[in-house]
Amino acid sequence: MRYLSTRGGHETDLVGAMLQGLAPDGSLYVAEELPRFDADEIHGETIAEIGTELLAPFFVDSALADSLAAICDDALNFPIPLEALAVEQGDLAVLELFHGPTLAFKDVGARFLAAAMERALPDLDSKDSRPLTILVATSGDTGAAVAAAFHRRRGIRVGVLFPKDLVSPRQQHQLTCWTGNVRSFEVSGTFDACQAMVKAAFTDADLNTRHRLSAANSINIGRLLPQVVYHAAASLWHYRAHGTQANFIVPTGNLGNALGCIWARAMGMPIGDIILATNANRTIPDFLATGDWQPRPSIQTLASAMDVGDPSNMERLRDLIPDFGELRRAVEVYPVDDAAIRQQIAKDYRRLGRVWCPHTATAAWAYDQLPQARRIGEPWIIVATAHPAKFDTIVEEIIDASVPVPPELAVLLELPAHCEALQPHASALAGALDDW
Ligand SMILES: *Cc1c(COP(=O)(O)O)cnc(C)c1O
Repeated sequence: MRYLSTRGGHETDLVGAMLQGLAPDGSLYVAEELPRFDADEIHGETIAEIGTELLAPFFVDSALADSLAAICDDALNFPIPLEALAVEQGDLAVLELFHGPTLAFKDVGARFLAAAMERALPDLDSKDSRPLTILVATSGDTGAAVAAAFHRRRGIRVGVLFPKDLVSPRQQHQLTCWTGNVRSFEVSGTFDACQAMVKAAFTDADLNTRHRLSAANSINIGRLLPQVVYHAAASLWHYRAHGTQANFIVPTGNLGNALGCIWARAMGMPIGDIILATNANRTIPDFLATGDWQPRPSIQTLASAMDVGDPSNMERLRDLIPDFGELRRAVEVYPVDDAAIRQQIAKDYRRLGRVWCPHTATAAWAYDQLPQARRIGEPWIIVATAHPAKFDTIVEEIIDASVPVPPELAVLLELPAHCEALQPHASALAGALDDW
């Protein structure tokens, strides 16, 4: 399988696309074509088994082709259950993506990328034996997932940059409880400053002769491919049990998670309608309403991991469906403001005994807004992107109860935390890399 850049002009293989992250012109890599399956052709039961079948065409002709099953077993090794919800009428289930090491769906992609990169390295090392240094700027969730996923991977080091005083206490702990090959840098600046430092490091030619740098951000194709797998698996489990297609509602920020669902449907999986639930950041809803793509600065909401004003994966969606009329028929969008998020968390706690994180609450709200005939007449799956215990400071006040800390988080919270202070300048990061 060849990987092509969305703006044309660049081509590479799977390992190249994973190591580069972005194409040289800043556009995104997509598979030359999406494979097609018949739902009855897939026989795997578990996420890892289904992943091994579905992703095989993406790995053809790659140095990792023989490692796909091992990568799926290694990365997709925590539960991703589809749980029925006890609504009064209708068929509603929740796909729980929050049982990984850092309790958010980003664990899936980060673990898959880490498992793949670790196995790709020996092949590359014949040309370059320097350790691979992954740099990641984070406003919270991504950095923790990447640090956890790459911790103790052979031949790879990770530098996580996060903005001082701008992540929640639990997020900070999850960013700074690692040892060995993971270092955490507390930058006295904003997330944008962290991101600028990472970008500067990648474009600093001198620095790149001394260090082999790579990125693990969420637009990496190695993080997107496994996001196809759990949507496909959930649709197959539903289809095998009921013989019908399920509709999905996906909390959406940068559009990576939902793109996994859209690709799964395009690959022939039994998925019906796809609804994107966004927060008050209106770039996607405004685009689908008007056809005008107008990125803008993000605004802060309770669903902070979805605070994206320039959703980069739209480029991949428009590559898949270039015709605007067709695109508009392919997805719907429900924007959800903070008041609705609060209301939904309180309502579903009373009604279903379920506590949603603020991101998942957007999808639950969208479900409740569906016209009754559609809501009750068709099966629906809402995608739960994070565990509420990660957002305890928001959620506990709304439900007026405490959220028990799940064991995965308790383990991390017990580890000692440490990080290194960094000035918000490219030279400070270069210095830290040289001293590593
Ligand atoms: C990243 C994230 C999202 C948004 O996912 P995208 O792929 O950026 O659309 C939603 N919820 C949580 C908890 C996240 O961490």
